[in-house]
Amino acid sequence: MNRGTLLIHNGHETEPLSGALGVPIIQTSTFDQGDLSGQREYDYARSGNPTRKALEEIIASLEKGAQGYAFGSGIAAIASVLGIFSAGDHLIAAEDIYGGSWRILNTFYKRWGLEMTPVDATDPDQIRRAIKPNTKGLFLETPSNPLLKITNLPVCLGIAQEAGLISIVDNTFMTPYLQRPLELGADIVVHSATKFLGGHSDVISGLAVTKTEALGKRVYAVQNGFGAVPGPWDIWLVIRGLKTLKVRMDAQEASARHIAPWLKAHEGVSAVFYPGLPGHPDREINEVQAAGAGAVLSFKTRTREQALGFLAKVKLAATAVSLGGVETIASYPVKMSHASIPPAERERLGITDTLIRISVGLEDPEDLIADFAQALA
Ligand SMILES: *Cc1c(COP(=O)(O)O)cnc(C)c1O
Repeated sequence: MNRGTLLIHNGHETEPLSGALGVPIIQTSTFDQGDLSGQREYDYARSGNPTRKALEEIIASLEKGAQGYAFGSGIAAIASVLGIFSAGDHLIAAEDIYGGSWRILNTFYKRWGLEMTPVDATDPDQIRRAIKPNTKGLFLETPSNPLLKITNLPVCLGIAQEAGLISIVDNTFMTPYLQRPLELGADIVVHSATKFLGGHSDVISGLAVTKTEALGKRVYAVQNGFGAVPGPWDIWLVIRGLKTLKVRMDAQEASARHIAPWLKAHEGVSAVFYPGLPGHPDREINEVQAAGAGAVLSFKTRTREQALGFLAKVKLAATAVSLGGVETIASYPVKMSHASIPPAERERLGITDTLIRISVGLEDPEDLIADFAQALA
């Protein structure tokens, strides 16, 4: 089956007892274990719940992995996966991973003795050079946020395989509809399901998928032991959101492809960052490893005042953090996602006070362009 069909025919399209078209919300904390013969699959809902299991099986099949795991947020998924490492282990991470991932690696896990070296992962040699005897893992995210840089997954994951590292890819921006890192050599995929998978800006949720059952057991030990699990109502929203991922992503990407060149041609815009745009330096790498360019783009105005003016005047985009919802969201990285990075470091990374990130929603793109035009004027 093609990717779009798998979103609907996911093994959980019909509930076998009643024939209902959908996964039931099993709202319970514990399960009657009957005669204690061990015949019942579930005992306690932190350890497992049928609603959660459905989502875990669905995401595993979409990412072509062995096991899926659901968490209470994207960062809970990431923190739990990182929990498989030990004090004294060394990780290599792309320097422009999601700010929250950066924060837990540099604060929480640092205190617990997990060492981390940041690299510019668009240059695979930097990964090669950072490998040490105690290096155990590689953490990547592509496209990156907020500058939509592309990491060459087959090359970088190949380096990790050769060195025996566990590779982790944050696939939030692309989703398995557009990119499947496990098929490209990754060991674990993580998601903020808050974004495109849920898709409606109404739930916080996270997912992880492992390539092998053995790695799955290690992630499960943290999921159950650490306990950052989601409740069944939130899981149900993600399961429902996933059913329309294809049409949402197709339409949102088509709009992004329409808006990006318009922005690029605008005299008030000095740069546009979007992997679907001709002239993006790594457009071809993205086309090899992903089935699309996604629906997030960013651009720079000529002055800080223009950027702030745009955010004040734009009507069809909420000025907010987050992305991947049906509604267009404009965010201002220097004051939002990247506010905690020291200004000099931000400047080095190209995250200036003229940079605006747009998550293109399902509005008519012509209306978005008209609105952006008045907001840039
Ligand atoms: C939002 C996001 C996260 C964190 O997810 P939450 O659901 O907010 O905890 C992780 N990675 C990326 C790429 C994100 O955009």
